[in-house]
Amino acid sequence: MSDAQAGELRRHQMVERQLRARGIRDERVLAAMDSVPREEFVPPSHVFRAYDDCALPLAHGQTISQPYMVARTIELARVGPDDIVLEVGLGSGYQAAVLARLCARVFGIELLPELAASARAALARISTQNVEVLVGDGSLGHADAAPYDAIVVAASAPGLPPSLVDQLKLHGRLVIPIRNAGVDKLTVVERTQHGLTRTEHESCVYVPLRGAAGWADDEV
Ligand code: SAH
Repeated sequence: MSDAQAGELRRHQMVERQLRARGIRDERVLAAMDSVPREEFVPPSHVFRAYDDCALPLAHGQTISQPYMVARTIELARVGPDDIVLEVGLGSGYQAAVLARLCARVFGIELLPELAASARAALARISTQNVEVLVGDGSLGHADAAPYDAIVVAASAPGLPPSLVDQLKLHGRLVIPIRNAGVDKLTVVERTQHGLTRTEHESCVYVPLRGAAGWADDEV
């Protein structure tokens, strides 16, 4: 069996055992997760663990999120084929690559230039063309391309960043881990005709969101 075939098999097992068996139901999300080679996004030293059921280390103490959290976040964002999506905390670029297969355009913003550069290279290797990689403080969103159908945040925030809420379209969804009493909760905010709705989902563990609407260095 070639390396590529072995990767495909492990990826398919990941989808069945870690995602479908745990309740991810959206077939479009499952198919997208089954199609993105995660080994392209993990550091070379961790390629053999690319489909493990956990987050994996990136440079600068950051992490590539656990596959289940990527799938769950995207499922909660209810991304459609014509959607414009902002991802805050691009990291390795893996989640952006999955999103890119489900929507029209992804803006992925990353605070650390070195991570943004390797994400850009990984996305190019797998020929993803609808992700725009940006370097900056995503806790302020990206006003130039706003408003968005969906915004997903891959780092945990002390509260709802006001700019991200402002940059949601009507019926737009923001999926963001919010830390309360030391526990991160995956939170969904939706802009409706009657204002914002907010629902809390499962607990999760994310690296802290930095920047203007994130945590200060001495807070985490
Ligand atoms: N979605 C990523 C997960 C990366 S971890 C993946 O699939 O690999 C979260 C990332 O958020 C880290 O790379 C961190 O540098 C970044 N980050 C933290 N605060 C940020 C901010 N204010 N703006 C942009 N990126 C931020």
